[in-house]
Amino acid sequence: MRKMLIAGNWKMNFAPKKAVKFVDQIKESIDIKERDVVLCVPYVALQPVKDALKGTSVQVGAQNVHYMDDGAYTGEISPAMLDEMEVPYVIVGHSERREKFAESDTTVNLRALRALKHGLCPIICVGETQKQRGAQRTEDVLRKQVKFALDEIKPERAEKVVIAYEPIWAIGTGVTATTAQAEDACAFIRTLLVERFGKEIAQKIRILYGGSVTPKNAAELFSQPNIDGGLVGGASTIPTFDEVVKAGL
Ligand code: PEP
Repeated sequence: MRKMLIAGNWKMNFAPKKAVKFVDQIKESIDIKERDVVLCVPYVALQPVKDALKGTSVQVGAQNVHYMDDGAYTGEISPAMLDEMEVPYVIVGHSERREKFAESDTTVNLRALRALKHGLCPIICVGETQKQRGAQRTEDVLRKQVKFALDEIKPERAEKVVIAYEPIWAIGTGVTATTAQAEDACAFIRTLLVERFGKEIAQKIRILYGGSVTPKNAAELFSQPNIDGGLVGGASTIPTFDEVVKAGL
């Protein structure tokens, strides 16, 4: 049985003081045993938020990571650094990184590989544009992104991988994929995982849906057989995040 994972993505919001204030406000309500809950916060808020969450089961995650352990990469943060800080999760290949910071399938794969080497769980984001969906290319796009992202990942590390299906047209737009669209895409991703790692491992890998998840639509989305939780942007930055975390319980 896969344990559901609800990961909040704060994006470039909440400086440390505001972050801690917000966490103090919501931490009790999102500390539940039935699901894994992670807050992916800006780098500068990682330690303060981690400290604020002490005594709860809620974990922190970063929103990106470089693919080298150290070196002349001004401005970057390495998996070794996150490892030392005991940060267990990191988002990799979010569409905003791919689109606005020119991240490619190749660097997404390198980031995921290096994150895994350090014991982090990479939340690897994949998803199509509106135009690609309109042209019925969703499965082609997902196949290519998933194939590249998982290249050279060893089966024994695969269970730590999380895939987030995030149709780009649904991110931050208020337009959510229908439950059928989300489940179909996640089920397709599951078949790709079976091809890549075999059935047993594929059944253990969590696939999240992301894209305008709200307290209203979360329960139905999370009830689907191949949707193992959500990657939640906007709705994770407001006090009602607990309603998403507990949706359908
Ligand atoms: C995201 O940032 O990954 C996301 C899905 O955002 P939102 O929930 O705001 O659409």
